[in-house]
Amino acid sequence: MKADLHTHTTASDGRENPERLVDLALEKGLTSLAITDHDTLDGYQKAKPRADERGIHLITGIENTVLWRGKEVHLLAYFFDADHPEVLQFVARQKRARRLRMEKIVAKLQAQGLDITMDEVLAEAYKGNVGRPHAAAVLIQKRVVATIPEAFVRYLDQQKLQIQTEYASLEEAIHVFHRAGGVLSLAHPGRMFKVPELLDLLEHDFDAIECIHPSHPYHIQKRMKTLAMRFQKLLTGGSDFHKNDENGFHPFFGIVTLSEDHVSQLQARSFEWKSKASTMEGSRVDGTRPSPLASKVGKAGEVHRFPRPAGATASTR
Ligand SMILES: [Zn+2]
Repeated sequence: MKADLHTHTTASDGRENPERLVDLALEKGLTSLAITDHDTLDGYQKAKPRADERGIHLITGIENTVLWRGKEVHLLAYFFDADHPEVLQFVARQKRARRLRMEKIVAKLQAQGLDITMDEVLAEAYKGNVGRPHAAAVLIQKRVVATIPEAFVRYLDQQKLQIQTEYASLEEAIHVFHRAGGVLSLAHPGRMFKVPELLDLLEHDFDAIECIHPSHPYHIQKRMKTLAMRFQKLLTGGSDFHKNDENGFHPFFGIVTLSEDHVSQLQARSFEWKSKASTMEGSRVDGTRPSPLASKVGKAGEVHRFPRPAGATASTR
């Protein structure tokens, strides 16, 4: 009974189509799967009928790119209502922001004398949501660079590009997905933030930390679990699968997994947000958001209750 809550398909920068990913997940013995393509639900929607037919629990998922202090943060969302109008509107806006950003990236690369066009990048993305790995693929084809990491280091690094993006703010994403019953998890923070920055970030009202991730060696995983306890967050995890190698092998898919106990806890949290949203609907919204931890959760989906960290403000939950 194991789950993978972080995977990508051709709907963003993965190389397997969504239906095929469902089959691969079953081959690996996974019981639950979340497709978390970047800023799109297309992969989830395509995979849903196959997952239902083949009997794997496909959890609604997405990896949102959001802004916090001018920096891009990856925020995973799960168990939300995928037809919720605010979610659909949010995702459509994010997709536009992503495309606009790529247009700016291509213009910057052209200004450096590189032979690359937006059409070529879009062709590389096929019909998926365009991202920097697609630009990297074009640069490899044209022999400007030899590998994706080289493309990132030399041309596509965030710091190097210095591009203003129109992505939603962290706060807005949290608000929209909570209203749709979503559970939010900070993606692979171990490799993204220094500790003081992470401590500030954890004051925000998302629900979980992605502790289990291939980029988190054991000591980082342990540190993330300690922080999750301290800040009363749940745990998520997954392989961040993008593609198999030429031998059909991925070192982490089916290996870096999360137990179903944690999945139940996330689902229980989602029920709390859903019931909160339905009680608030129609009633006066006064700007306060009641804590989901205040309510009782059944045994199967028991929520971790950890002591509040010393000095933490009541407003964090
Ligand atoms: Zn990812």
